[in-house]
Amino acid sequence: MAPGDSEVDVLIVGAGPAGLMAATWMARCGIKTRIIDKRGTKIFSGQADGLQCRTLEIFDSFGFADRVWKESNHMLEICLWNPDSEGRIRRSDRIPDTIPFISRFQQVVLHQGRIERFFLDSMKKHSDIRVERGVMPQSMTFDENKAEDPAAYPIEVTLQHLTEAEMNPDQSTSTNGAAKSDGLFRSNMAADDTEELLQRAANHGLVGSRETVKAKYLIGCDGAHSWVRRQLGQGFELEGEQTDYIWGVLDIIPITDFPDIRMRCAIHSASSGSVMVIPRENKLVRLYIQMTTTEKGGDKLDRSNITPKLILESAQRTMKPYKLDYEYCDWWTAYQIGQRVGKSFSKSTRIFLAGDAVHTHSPKAGQGMNVSMQDTYNLGWKIAGVINGTLDRKVLGTYESERKMIAEQLIEFDHKFSRLFSGRPAKDVADEAGISMSEFKEAFVKGNLFASGVAVDYDASLIVAKDGGPKEQSDGTGVLNGDKRGRGAGNKELATNIKIGQRFPSYQVLNQADARPWPFQQFLKSDGRFRIIVFAGNIVSPSQKSLVHQLAKSLEPLTKRYTPSSKPIDSRIEILTLHSSKRHDVEIFDFPELLRPWTEGEGWDYWKIFVDDESYHEGDGRAYEGYGVDKEKGCLVAARPDGYVGWVGGLEDVGDLERWFGGFMKVQE
Ligand code: FAD
Repeated sequence: MAPGDSEVDVLIVGAGPAGLMAATWMARCGIKTRIIDKRGTKIFSGQADGLQCRTLEIFDSFGFADRVWKESNHMLEICLWNPDSEGRIRRSDRIPDTIPFISRFQQVVLHQGRIERFFLDSMKKHSDIRVERGVMPQSMTFDENKAEDPAAYPIEVTLQHLTEAEMNPDQSTSTNGAAKSDGLFRSNMAADDTEELLQRAANHGLVGSRETVKAKYLIGCDGAHSWVRRQLGQGFELEGEQTDYIWGVLDIIPITDFPDIRMRCAIHSASSGSVMVIPRENKLVRLYIQMTTTEKGGDKLDRSNITPKLILESAQRTMKPYKLDYEYCDWWTAYQIGQRVGKSFSKSTRIFLAGDAVHTHSPKAGQGMNVSMQDTYNLGWKIAGVINGTLDRKVLGTYESERKMIAEQLIEFDHKFSRLFSGRPAKDVADEAGISMSEFKEAFVKGNLFASGVAVDYDASLIVAKDGGPKEQSDGTGVLNGDKRGRGAGNKELATNIKIGQRFPSYQVLNQADARPWPFQQFLKSDGRFRIIVFAGNIVSPSQKSLVHQLAKSLEPLTKRYTPSSKPIDSRIEILTLHSSKRHDVEIFDFPELLRPWTEGEGWDYWKIFVDDESYHEGDGRAYEGYGVDKEKGCLVAARPDGYVGWVGGLEDVGDLERWFGGFMKVQE
């Protein structure tokens, strides 16, 4: 290594939501990581704000959903406002914001800056990874020949350190009107300043020192103008179109007589455009206002012409005869909507793109921050697992196959939704060119399931045993060699409501040892471990008890095979058990030791065996019924470190489960 050079396992460019999620995984999994951002500070107000219920489940798996839940505004109802026959806007419908019972969380809103704060705190708690601000990549080389060498650092990046002035661009508050903070400098209506920053840094030579970093993996989370994407060049372009919709955003404390200002509203006026109302934390309300559109393919609105006053006047026209004004504006911005997806999400599964760097779309369904974070939530554990020697590099190919599909679905959804939102409302049933109220409502109802994130359903792959791989008998030796290794097929019929490819759902269960009720999903922590969930069935029945003991005998060699001998038995694959007998009829010692492992100096693990029974204070979770599992016979479920279900089978199907793990995990010494 040349003097001044350093090596790092993972280099993350960009510390927005996608970059911070990636860094959080690395912090949890103990991976040597650097994360850099060209800006001098994190976001303090504005920008993205909607958090879907699946995102909250993910935050909970990292241990900070409670902070979001407490600080955020909870959105319970959507009100649809449409013009009546006289053209006056009226509330035409109310629907639940989150579809009831699809998650233990509902949609909430809290500005992006707080979300970034929670990530930063979490990283600090678990690692020494810190965001290096005022640092940006200046050049990058990649030696593709070394891509398959696990010990190689095939990526070389020169980093440029910026001065205070460069990393903190001026905000145009004084020229564009009174607001604590405007977001135009981050908006896609502002020109990208990457080249200018590099040029200025090169000229002063002071703080602008350079260093070279060699990395095993690089993740480009550097937003819509992505520098990393541009370096990758041909084959990585965004495909799609820049729409002619321009949206203004105002975060204000509204002074109004509009009755639903504390509800999420979609307001569609007869001829003065549409407004979306998002009630926020701290008395704030966000208004998304569709501004006058440009001609398709025409010039963008001039940035300096857009002011909070202009955006407000647009909203006033849509919402009249109701009055709307404000004295306090917390943040505002405007941006033009592009609906585009990157052609490729990874180069030789060494350099990855995530978040806005590979997909952009409208803000209407509050998806930007959520889908971006979920990209790196999908990717982080895979890279960490490959680096720490748990996973085969083949797993990395599933990032693009899983996330590109989601990005494409998102753009398709956004196309439909934008047309309905931005189109002219129908005057009556005969007005076929207009958007009918029922069409609008249906789009909201259907859109809600997609937007919740809960509907994500990954296709069959080596980590999703969905389409029934080769079903061979285990040879009993537990050794899986080349030609015996197939993808475990499992048997999805044994858990009718646990869908392979989807996230493991949650029902209330009780801890066998202390009777406390918990949402079962809460035990699927994001710590890099796979999980085998043993639905032990009715353990009081002697034959079932014997089956469970037999199961433990065959699971032990499986878990040992993938766990380094120096590590605890549950450090790579954790086993959680849920039985269906009465809690009082069972002791934890009825279960084999593998299901309640012993740690020297700590004794038995009391947080691994759960029961589906009535609680003293919080009712009966009826988990077996919810999961669609037979209460007598039970079943086995394997979940990936991100909580997505990879395999479902019977208690006697361990051979098949072995084949599933054998398809992507590395045998340990
Ligand atoms: P970003 O949040 O854009 O983060 C990228 C990071 O990379 C930034 O911190 C940036 O400083 C850094 N960076 C960029 N280039 C470089 C470089 N060359 N070197 C080093 N660092 C670099 N979504 C919603 O859901 N609701 C909204 O209301 C909403 N409003 C928005 C308003 C604006 C003005 C913008 C720009 C976006 C808005 N979005 C909204 C979209 C949402 O913010 C994004 O989808 C989300 O932030 C994407 O996260 P990300 O981490 O991929 O990218």
